[in-house]
Amino acid sequence: MLSPKKQRALILPRQGRTDLANYTAAGHLLWDALVNTSLTPRIDETSAGRAIAIDLPDGTTLWLTEDADVTHLPTDHEAWSALHFHDPADSGDYLQVYLGPGDLSCEADTAACVSTVAAWIASWTAAGAVARHNTYLTLNKTAAPRDTIRAAWHISWGHPGFNPTNPTSPTEQHTATVIEQSADLPGRRGACLACPWEGPLRRDHNSAVEDALDHTHPGWRSLPVVPQGTGGKNAKRIRAYLEAVYPTGWFETGGPLKVYTNVANDRHEPGKARGGGYLVKVYRSNYTPEPKHQQQSLL
Ligand SMILES: [Zn+2]
Repeated sequence: MLSPKKQRALILPRQGRTDLANYTAAGHLLWDALVNTSLTPRIDETSAGRAIAIDLPDGTTLWLTEDADVTHLPTDHEAWSALHFHDPADSGDYLQVYLGPGDLSCEADTAACVSTVAAWIASWTAAGAVARHNTYLTLNKTAAPRDTIRAAWHISWGHPGFNPTNPTSPTEQHTATVIEQSADLPGRRGACLACPWEGPLRRDHNSAVEDALDHTHPGWRSLPVVPQGTGGKNAKRIRAYLEAVYPTGWFETGGPLKVYTNVANDRHEPGKARGGGYLVKVYRSNYTPEPKHQQQSLL
């Protein structure tokens, strides 16, 4: 591959503009801004007007041009477009990462394009719940299209580590959470606040939680299920039972508590176990909880 300097020199005057001795194209401004943001662009020569491409570690490519051209003069500039091609073999499958509004100066459009592209790449290449969430928060403040922001992975509302505005911090011990994206169909994954582990893609919430618990609290599946919210003497008995059968320190490390529910597909609830772990709902059709007025939290 050519050196960055030689590649930059490939942004040549448009045909018919050979009168311009010291030519600075809009593409030169974009190239320099990308390099200054520590990104590694390259010039794609297959496009007549030259395109600026950024290759990502997963083999996919971002494409930056104005109508398949970067050689125009800054004074002729209208709007940068950044497209991410998911599948190198299918040019019809792409995501719009940035599209200038069309009324900015070349300098302002270039700055907005580069900050959006940098934030999007950080989000795309992030791994693990904390990195995903924090890069999502940054992306959310850029000019990226709403659908592109929604398609970026982030911690699900109400789950451990979720914060709608401020960056979240990693935990010391493995802590189960759920990340989600809403692309064409919502996707969810179990994830961890201490490490970059992520579970397989799931459609439903509970499967993602259970994947995360397999990572943070292996063995949880074989633990016994207890009635939910039973009051009075029963609560003491159940607590003693839990202490006898759940491993020592289980709840202190955010371990889940398994309770019966008579609601099919009842959602596992974050933060509801003693110690802040998940309340995992186990469906039993003939289970009838005590009337509400008698209930008292066992947790
Ligand atoms: Zn972990």
